[in-house]
Amino acid sequence: MTATVPSRAGLALPWTHVDDVFVDGRFVPAHGTRRNPVTDPATGEEWGSVPESDDVDLESAITAARRAFTFGPWPRLTAAERAQHLLRVADEIEARAELLAATNTRENGSPITETRGAAANAAGIFRYTASLAPYLDEPDVRPFPYAPERESVVDRDPVGVCALIAPWNFPINLMVIKLAPALLAGCTMVIKPASPTPLSIRFVVEAIAAAGVPAGVVNLLTGSGRFGDALVRHPGVDKVAFTGSTPVGRTIAGACGELLRPVTLELGGKSSAIVLEDADLDVFAAGLIRSCLRNTGQTCYISTRILAPVSRYEEVVERAAATVGAAVQGDPLDERTVFGPMATASQYETVLGFVRDGLAEGARAVTGGRTAAGLPAPLDGGLFVEPTIFADVTPDMRIAREEIFGPVLSVLSYRDVDEAVALANNTTFGLGGIVFGQDEDAALAVARRMDTGSVGVNFFASNHAAPFGGRHDSGLGTEYGIEGLNAYLTYKSIHRRRATG
Ligand code: NDP
Repeated sequence: MTATVPSRAGLALPWTHVDDVFVDGRFVPAHGTRRNPVTDPATGEEWGSVPESDDVDLESAITAARRAFTFGPWPRLTAAERAQHLLRVADEIEARAELLAATNTRENGSPITETRGAAANAAGIFRYTASLAPYLDEPDVRPFPYAPERESVVDRDPVGVCALIAPWNFPINLMVIKLAPALLAGCTMVIKPASPTPLSIRFVVEAIAAAGVPAGVVNLLTGSGRFGDALVRHPGVDKVAFTGSTPVGRTIAGACGELLRPVTLELGGKSSAIVLEDADLDVFAAGLIRSCLRNTGQTCYISTRILAPVSRYEEVVERAAATVGAAVQGDPLDERTVFGPMATASQYETVLGFVRDGLAEGARAVTGGRTAAGLPAPLDGGLFVEPTIFADVTPDMRIAREEIFGPVLSVLSYRDVDEAVALANNTTFGLGGIVFGQDEDAALAVARRMDTGSVGVNFFASNHAAPFGGRHDSGLGTEYGIEGLNAYLTYKSIHRRRATG
């Protein structure tokens, strides 16, 4: 059983109940009069609220973004000049780190040790993206292969007005990996955070304004999924970038396909950790929570299926159970907490449903697994699901096939490496993965056989400089790296005679 921490820190957050949105460089009262609550999932307390933007708000934000794109200075600055702004944004975000972290934790229950890193991580993304400015400013001139007296100048233009939509699990990171490259490219944008997490992103917007990014370049509207749909389909939008669930991603892809609108989709996953025969289980145990259960299991790329060789199966199960069982679940504002609550009531019900199905299908809960009423909750009214490790899981069980998005791991067994690779690839998703093994070359060879967008050897982490994206049902396109920047560009080839002499 997982230990609990009952304490709770006091806080003074600047934004709780707000009635404004950020349009054309200012926080202005929203036109929409309906309000959406912000609830602390650790306690059930409704501690904030935001406006539900309406069509008038949408029109104002798109108009401001379009005006800034067509007439404003931002797209006409050099990339090096825009990069200077990005570097200032990074400093301004870091200056707001503590309040941002506390707000984020109260929105979605992510442990404070996780949200404390959000500002530094966002600043790192802005700084890395700024370093790509020379790639945009460098002239790109290509001679005609068959007519050397002619050449083409290839301009990398900003794609236009972007709609950026983020989910609730990492509300800062998953917006910033869109915002930073869109800004460097010279785009303007309307951003929509998820309904459970509409307040923490205001620190980023405030930082962008404080860094001198011109009015209209970044506009923030809050609203539901229905409002997100209206944003995606608005005729004034040139590009959509979305992170969230696969079903919503499919709907957005359909709309963008109809509209011939470029789209980047970062969707769900069901990734595997392959533990090879020679794996060092100390390394496995040290990386388990970060690689397989990060953010109380509410992370898209984590490896929630552990594939263990038959010869070491019980050993792997015991190490996983001991590691998870020793981790503290409780108040996410407490430094000691490793596992917080589920972010939303619907996520809580979904995850409990998976635990029930796992038990009903014959999986063995070696730690956790209790779903009955009366389960001691770390905080009254909180959406806490007991971290659970299931053994004796077979590939046909629902817990082995579907994305759970909660603190639940399944351990499956394999006979040889071919079977391990086949099990890992037996999914409609293709986002993350990890291989544990002491022979790094052998582990790398297995990693190369995994049908996935990213895979780690003995650890998993995303690298701002390397592309991150999913295959199959995990998405379309990539974020991070030069590839992530390219998603916000459109190309123009200007053909001309080469200057002589
Ligand atoms: P959704 O895909 O429903 O939401 C993600 C974002 O899209 C939110 O901002 C949401 O707004 C918005 N949205 C919802 N419907 C539309 C629409 N039709 N058009 C445009 N935008 C829309 O994910 P959930 O937050 O409901 O999570 C459900 C599941 O998705 C999880 O259980 C998990 O499996 C997966 N997920 C995956 C993530 C990942 O990182 N890959 C992240 C989060 C969830 P609003 O919040 O207002 O509804």
